[in-house]
Amino acid sequence: MKVRAGILVTGTEVLTGIITDRNGPWLSEQLRSMGIEPAQITVVADRPDDITAALAAMSQMGCQLVITSGGLGPTADDLTAAVIGSFQGRPLALDSEVEAVIEAILAPLADRWPNLDHDAVMAANRKQAMVPAGATVLNPVGTAPGLIVPPREETDGPTVVVLPGPPRELKPMWADAIETPAFKAAVVGAGSYRRSMMRLFGMPESELALTLRNIEEQEIDLDGLEITTCLRRGEIEIATTYSPDLEANYQKFAVAIEAAHGDLLFSRDETTIDQIVAQLLQGHSIALAESCTAGMLTSRLADVPGSSDYLVGGMIVYSNDAKVELAGVSPATLADHGAVSAEVASELAVGAAVRLGASVGVAITGVAGPAGGTEEKPVGLVWFAVAVDGQAVFCRSVQLPGGRADIRDRSTTVAMHMIRKALQS
Ligand code: ATP
Ligand code: MG
Repeated sequence: MKVRAGILVTGTEVLTGIITDRNGPWLSEQLRSMGIEPAQITVVADRPDDITAALAAMSQMGCQLVITSGGLGPTADDLTAAVIGSFQGRPLALDSEVEAVIEAILAPLADRWPNLDHDAVMAANRKQAMVPAGATVLNPVGTAPGLIVPPREETDGPTVVVLPGPPRELKPMWADAIETPAFKAAVVGAGSYRRSMMRLFGMPESELALTLRNIEEQEIDLDGLEITTCLRRGEIEIATTYSPDLEANYQKFAVAIEAAHGDLLFSRDETTIDQIVAQLLQGHSIALAESCTAGMLTSRLADVPGSSDYLVGGMIVYSNDAKVELAGVSPATLADHGAVSAEVASELAVGAAVRLGASVGVAITGVAGPAGGTEEKPVGLVWFAVAVDGQAVFCRSVQLPGGRADIRDRSTTVAMHMIRKALQS
């Protein structure tokens, strides 16, 4: 049976859009990877009635699990623990052990701020040390402890996992939460269905829709396969969830996708292009010359831990002068072909590699817009080059859709796939 979970994000600042919700989507992905079905993400203000109504709705939807984020702090508007306790029919009581833990965390703070009113601080602590009866306490990452509050007695309502709002606190606490017996008891039966992922690069979503129709006409039974496709950062993801007894059907489906688009299919497990490129770069070194992306590709490579093994550096060559000065592009090439051209991209890629002493050089030069487009070189035209061992081996242009931010971000994805192809060939 599927285990369903609701995610309840609290915080007036999130609801009003002052802060973008980073916890809901992250938790949803965590749940999915554990085989728990996210049923809903709800954002509510720090209002007890609204929080209670959202909990009731999730319970009604059959969620065995609810995860809340936010409102665990010491101030009056932080009221999640009290509301959850009351919803679950579990009165709060001061837990002196928890109080001592918080006190120990705050002690160094008191030394640093000697003028703090000790009694006021301790009163605030005591608020954070109030624990609903029967709840499991999760150790604070900041100062707020988290909670796992079991269902109201004699009901099959949800277990509620109560986590703090700041993402840097929520994430490590989640890792602790899922290891507790209380959590495991709440999600018995989860993970009994599988999730598989295929990722493709280099075609529009409409073409995939056509392929899916063709596959159904080939009488491959897709019933029971929950297939979702999504276009993300220029790649198409096909995520499929299914019960293990439909494994054979899924395999037929995967083979059919591969037959139709094998050349574009680059990942059959959960691995991302960033991980694949990081793997392929082992034993190489890479340098970059970026014009319209101004360092975004270098930054994307550096997002992967351990990238110092192969990432030498990058040059931001925004102006023509910088292209000449930093990457050694010939002024004549610039004059003859313009900055957005195959010739300049090639010289940039070779120049980056040679000047920084790397075995692989990559260049991006394009028209990000909104201004600066011409009939010959419209906004969205981007040239790429990858040089291996001093030779520009791959050079291509693409015409990217969208606004300035889309064009720049999408350019990094195109470049990642060119690096992959260059290193795989
Ligand atoms: P604190 O003890 O820091 O007050 P808290 O558990 O009470 O923690 P909130 O008061 O709800 O959490 O939020 C504190 C801060 O954490 C917010 O101002 C915001 O910066 C960040 N935050 C909270 N919820 C989210 C969210 N869903 N996504 C991103 N950031 C968030
Ligand atoms: Mg708070």
